[in-house]
Amino acid sequence: MQAYLDAIQGGASGADIAAIPVPESYRAATVHKDEAGMFEGVDSSDKDPRKSIHVEEVATPELAPDEVYVALMASSINFNTVWTSIFEPVSTFGFLSRLGKESEYGARHDLPYHVMGSDGSGVVVKVGAAVRSWKPGDRVVIHCNSVDDQDPSAHDDSMLATNQRIWGFETNFGGLADLSIVKANQLMPKPAHLTWEEAAVNALCNSTSYRMLVSRNGADMKQGDVVLIWGATGGIGGYAVQYVLNGGGIPVGVVSSPERAQLLRDMGCEAVIDRAANGYRFWSDEHTQDESEWRRFGKDIRGLVGTDPDIVFEHPGRSTMGASVFVAKRGGLVMTCAATSGYMIEYDNRHLWMKLKTIKASHFANYREASEANKLIAQGRIQPLLSETRPLDEVGEAALSVHKNQSEGKIGVLCLAPQAGQGIDDAELREKVGEDKITLYQRHAAGGGS
Ligand code: NAP
Repeated sequence: MQAYLDAIQGGASGADIAAIPVPESYRAATVHKDEAGMFEGVDSSDKDPRKSIHVEEVATPELAPDEVYVALMASSINFNTVWTSIFEPVSTFGFLSRLGKESEYGARHDLPYHVMGSDGSGVVVKVGAAVRSWKPGDRVVIHCNSVDDQDPSAHDDSMLATNQRIWGFETNFGGLADLSIVKANQLMPKPAHLTWEEAAVNALCNSTSYRMLVSRNGADMKQGDVVLIWGATGGIGGYAVQYVLNGGGIPVGVVSSPERAQLLRDMGCEAVIDRAANGYRFWSDEHTQDESEWRRFGKDIRGLVGTDPDIVFEHPGRSTMGASVFVAKRGGLVMTCAATSGYMIEYDNRHLWMKLKTIKASHFANYREASEANKLIAQGRIQPLLSETRPLDEVGEAALSVHKNQSEGKIGVLCLAPQAGQGIDDAELREKVGEDKITLYQRHAAGGGS
């Protein structure tokens, strides 16, 4: 892999990069199938990714005709890194074994280890025989929607494809590694004004929030819409805030500390709720929700923006869904894509049907949506949410931090890139967009505030 790094840093041509032999093995963050039971009986919040994640050499898989090898300069931690590493709600080895039965190339994925990671930035080093739009030397970011486009169900909206999978979660050979294989239709141009790690953190969360709010497949938000955003300085929430502001909507951001409340204000979100300071107890015990607490929350939202939310950007799941359904306005929409705090959801259906509300589901993004979301990053209209950067050896620590809700935005991971700050190809655009905007989350994490 050193030869690739030297070539990339030395500005080698695509032909020179293509001439470097693909190494037989590479460094990767993995979990092991024979350790999938290691947390049995342990409370979810006590499951420690540092115990299950290994950083080790793995064999390089062969390339399918519609795939490329990417030398990864950087990657990022996603919440699915946490799910994979604590084997919840299920072990990801079940996904790999099903994929293994699907085809000859699918069989490569069914291994006793899982290379995880669903984001990446880097350089294409070799392309399969059927790849037309990309070539060695291209600087790219990778989105995680892996679909077989020869299946008719993959057309119209590839998120509805029967064989749709999330790369590095439901497939092997993910992005927390020095090398990966991905389908050519997962590639997008790297935003030229960003460093490798700033470029690497966006695709999964940014595309998810784009589909949820902007796309016709999601909320199709319009100017003036009030959007309640849970976890508004988190991975998907931080992009959601930017989409609402860009689209002329009115975000109401919910966070759990004064520091996060300040970060939200620095992003331009004026209506901020600190859920910890307000002490909402939507659940009075494990089995019972308290409507008076939903009502208090709704009153606080009205107090800030004068009306109920047109759209609720929902992902915490069990702990908040009852409140989300309650506070959405008459005819309003609850857009959900996750259930961090529990997936067996409870809400009062009377508030849904009597007020003609809708719950709509979303999951990642199709290629078009991911590409449009990436364009906005590349134009400097949506900012990366990188708050800190860790070496690949510290993926376990980084995943623990996300699991414990201790970090804001996104944690970047350096793969081949020897240090942070490299990979900027368009300094002029960077200056035009503004260092202050691009690095807002990094400065906050460093205690620098606005
Ligand atoms: P994240 O960076 O950890 O942010 C989540 C935020 O949610 C936190 O910052 C926290 O904010 C808030 N939160 C956590 N637990 C909460 C609770 N019990 N009640 C209210 N707020 C809570 O994670 P993320 O990357 O944004 O992902 C969020 C969820 O979406 C995860 O479950 C992830 O797996 C899922 N996801 C799904 C897709 C998809 O395509 N379906 C894509 C991306 C992510 P405060 O503590 O500040 O309020």
